[in-house]
Amino acid sequence: MLNSYYTEKLLGIQEVEIKNIQEKEECYEISIEQPRKKCICPCCGELTNKIHDYRHQRIKELPAFNKKVLLILRKRRYVCSCGKRFFEPNTFLARYQRMTKRAIMGILDKLSDSRSYTAVAHEFNISTSTVMCRKFSMRMMYGQEKCKRLQKSITEC
Ligand SMILES: [Zn+2]
Repeated sequence: MLNSYYTEKLLGIQEVEIKNIQEKEECYEISIEQPRKKCICPCCGELTNKIHDYRHQRIKELPAFNKKVLLILRKRRYVCSCGKRFFEPNTFLARYQRMTKRAIMGILDKLSDSRSYTAVAHEFNISTSTVMCRKFSMRMMYGQEKCKRLQKSITEC
C-alpha cells in the first residue's frame, strides 16, 4: 500500500487509499477506497461502522500523464441499528455526480480559457451537452464568485 501522504498528493483527495492502479491502453484505472470509520446515521443520528455491502462506482477524474483517468471507488454502505442503510460520505464527489469536483472545476477552468465546449468535451471524454450542463449546474450550485474562487484555489495547489 502506498503511503497515504503520496496518495493525497497524487490524487489531491484526502483519506483515500489507493488499492490498485491499472494502466490500460485508453486510460489509467485507479481503484480507491475510504478507510472504514464510524459514521452518523442520517436517520437517527447514532454512530455505526457496521458494513452492509459495497458498490463499485466509476468516477471520471482529470487526465494525467496524457491519459484519461478513471477512479473506481469501492463505496461502502453502512447499516445502522435502526435499519437505515446509507453510503459513506466523501468530500471529493458532489451528490449525483460521476466525476470528481476537481474534474468539474478542470472543465470550467478550460472553458474560462475561451475554448469551445466541443474541444473541452473531447479532452475529458464526455459529451458536449454534459460540458454545458456542468457549467450551468456549477454556477447554480456555487454562484459565479464561488466558482472563480474554487478555480483559483485549485490552480494554486
Ligand atoms: Zn439509525
